[in-house]
Amino acid sequence: MASIPNEFIESLLDKVDIYDVVSARVQLKKTGKDYSGLCPFHTENTPSFTVSQQKQFYHCFGCGKNGSAIGFLMEYEGLEFIDAVKDLAQSAGMEVPVKAGNHLPKSSNNLYAVTEKATRIFAHQLKSAAHVIDYLKNRGISGETALTFQLGYALDEWNGLANRFEVNEQDLLKRTGLTTSNERNQLYDKFRNRLMFPIHDRRGRVIAFGGRAIEAEQKPKYLNSPETELFHKSNELYGLHLAKKHSQEPYILVVEGYMDVIALHEYDIKNAVATLGTATSAQHIQTLFKSWDRIVFCFDGDNAGIQAAEKALNTALPLYLDRKIIDFLFLPDKEDPDSYVSKYGADAFRKQVNDAVAFSDFFLQILNKNININSLDGKAQLFDKAQPYLKQLPKGNFKQIMAKKIAEISGIDQQAPRNYEQPATPNKQYGENPLRKLISLLLNSPYLCSKMPQELNLRILSFKGVEIIDKIVEIFNANPHIRSAAMLEHFRDSDYSKYLGHLMSMHDHLDEQQKKLEFEDLVHYLLKMTSQQEINRLRNKQLQQGLSNEEKQKLVQLLHQKHQ
Ligand SMILES: [Zn+2]
Repeated sequence: MASIPNEFIESLLDKVDIYDVVSARVQLKKTGKDYSGLCPFHTENTPSFTVSQQKQFYHCFGCGKNGSAIGFLMEYEGLEFIDAVKDLAQSAGMEVPVKAGNHLPKSSNNLYAVTEKATRIFAHQLKSAAHVIDYLKNRGISGETALTFQLGYALDEWNGLANRFEVNEQDLLKRTGLTTSNERNQLYDKFRNRLMFPIHDRRGRVIAFGGRAIEAEQKPKYLNSPETELFHKSNELYGLHLAKKHSQEPYILVVEGYMDVIALHEYDIKNAVATLGTATSAQHIQTLFKSWDRIVFCFDGDNAGIQAAEKALNTALPLYLDRKIIDFLFLPDKEDPDSYVSKYGADAFRKQVNDAVAFSDFFLQILNKNININSLDGKAQLFDKAQPYLKQLPKGNFKQIMAKKIAEISGIDQQAPRNYEQPATPNKQYGENPLRKLISLLLNSPYLCSKMPQELNLRILSFKGVEIIDKIVEIFNANPHIRSAAMLEHFRDSDYSKYLGHLMSMHDHLDEQQKKLEFEDLVHYLLKMTSQQEINRLRNKQLQQGLSNEEKQKLVQLLHQKHQ
């Protein structure tokens, strides 16, 4: 974890308003002193997602997710901690300080500089590569679209790119996968005489390249950067940074190749991404569901296409939430989105999307495969075949409907165990340890730290959590104006981070005055408990080894207080 000074995180969270951060992404309504809306992290019909400006904290009573503005950005945008901090800092006009010994991915920053430079070089080379421009024209790609996707050209030379970089940049260049070395350890360009497609991450930074052969005899037809520090194929989707600008579209298309994304873009269908030569991963699906409610997987209508679709369905099963939709679009044989849209136009393509096969239908199609559903044997087979699939579906309406449907088709009316969704009750799962309650109140209203009685010695109780309370008080003493979310950020890297997030919501229903009264009651109770504990300890000692004068005095005093 990169180390950014805590003080910076505190002042950052002081400067940004979580309301601004969340409301730019989730529709919020004022409810009482807080805001509420539909949770972006789970599917729901009634809002259980709340944002507190006072605490600078968000919390979902449905799925239990919670955190600061930083945490929200990480979860919502799929960012690393450091990137979420940078984004927020930028929006607040602050500069992220670099602490000594800090391992911010400084070298990655250099790698991005290298990929950006290579992108510029390739783009420049394209301008004078008439044969590649002809190729693009033949494929119907306009200059504007080529610019949007930052297309380029890698020269037909062994060191065409490497020669454009300084000696001290060669190592970085190799780390981006743009050069590779032969057995004699000589570096040479990985991409030669190829149309170049920069691959961007979701933030629009170039992390890798794809290269398409120009000559028919060139093999392979498509070549991708290898996995590098910046590029992990199964996490990335080609065109996502552009498609994200169109998240208001009701669906996102997932296609197979760069040229499909680009051709669709040319026809003004800008909500498309491509997997990068890998099968659709769970991470892909989760990423897309954050911005869209419907995913349409687009496959060629041939056998390979159907196999790929089956794989995608299997990956999607455990992620198939109610109110999210996955459809499968199979294009006519021998067509891909690129060829289809070029031949028949955007409207025809959109009609194909409308007619896509529903997840449930495709699911049944897979189950029916190679089974004679008219025989009793076949029915039993289908029922058995369906069970492992059903098991993978998350609890919810869709699962119940599918179970019912399969029971109908197979005629096996085995009452599917009803899976009523249990509302998450994070408050109860931690039991009634009074220290938990104290931690919750202190996190909720950090100013209460100033009202902790000096004589309260919690260490004498054998409850877990004393060290957390000490830490909270210590943080408060260093910054008495600290708010809840910033307080919680201090614990981000600790084992309790999640636990404390849950505790934060324990007293959400109380107003400040009620919290103060609860706190006073609790402190009173804890004082009684700790003094009783001390009485017991002293009495035991008295029996076993006797007490010093001082201890005797203490015992008398405690007993006196107790009976007052
Ligand atoms: Zn939720």
